[in-house]
Amino acid sequence: MNKPYAIGIDLGGTNLRVALVSRDNEIIEKIKKPTSDDIVASVIRSAEGIFSDEVAGIGIGVAGLIDRENSRVFTSPNLQAVEKVDLVKELKERFSVPVYIENDANAAALGEMRAGAGRDFSSFVLFTLGTGIGGGIVYNRKLLNVSAEIGHMSINADGEKCSCGNYGCLESYAAGRAILSNAVSLLETGRESLLKVQCGGNFYKLTAEDINKAALDGDNLAREILKTAGRHLGIGIANVINIISPEAIILSGGLTGAWDIYVQEAIKEASKRTLKELFERVRILPSLLSDDAGIIGSAGLVF
Ligand SMILES: [Zn+2]
Repeated sequence: MNKPYAIGIDLGGTNLRVALVSRDNEIIEKIKKPTSDDIVASVIRSAEGIFSDEVAGIGIGVAGLIDRENSRVFTSPNLQAVEKVDLVKELKERFSVPVYIENDANAAALGEMRAGAGRDFSSFVLFTLGTGIGGGIVYNRKLLNVSAEIGHMSINADGEKCSCGNYGCLESYAAGRAILSNAVSLLETGRESLLKVQCGGNFYKLTAEDINKAALDGDNLAREILKTAGRHLGIGIANVINIISPEAIILSGGLTGAWDIYVQEAIKEASKRTLKELFERVRILPSLLSDDAGIIGSAGLVF
């Protein structure tokens, strides 16, 4: 009795995505809405809309650190309401099917393995590059059920304190939040830049996309900011390759839009810092599924 579908849920700090997904990773139906404070009710209501007798189970990817023993969320800085609820228990009670929980970047890695850029690799590491940096590790065609908090690897012993308690975390240098705060502090020193015009003088309105656009238009300040972030990302990539020796590094998330400057700089830096033999066999490439990786991967937890 192999039921043909699963419900995949991607619960992030900004958006909730819920989808009906087939065993061969086809998205049959998809709902996307802003994440609400009443997480349980909102998730259940969305799942009810697509649930049927044909659903084998439900998988959830949550932005947060997962307590694997108790199938709950330890901490979720961007979605604190989820720490207080037992989402797995509530969904099991409502739908009477198996329910699985994973970290959202881990789920996205499983999605890329099943249907995306990771299909042809036996081992790879996914980096999610957004406001922060997340990660997921696939080894010998299996998602490793480990934390894979790549963004919180320290790359500077004397760096600034991160919200996680560590100092000099990769994401404090290479993620979207770092890129924006660098831009604001450099602009506040009075540096000339196209960015000033772009944001109409209000530096706090800038987005990572604005910075990429200015960089592509040849703006020196924007290029410098993206290159600095990319260089730090490259240090993180080199560390991961040296530890895991994957066949591929897959990069996903909004910042991969800045591939030509930010990612190219990261690749250049990683090539200098990775053991030569390991760098020669690794491929660094973009995700194929982008926003759908999470729901396909969460559904994949069921299959
Ligand atoms: Zn940290």
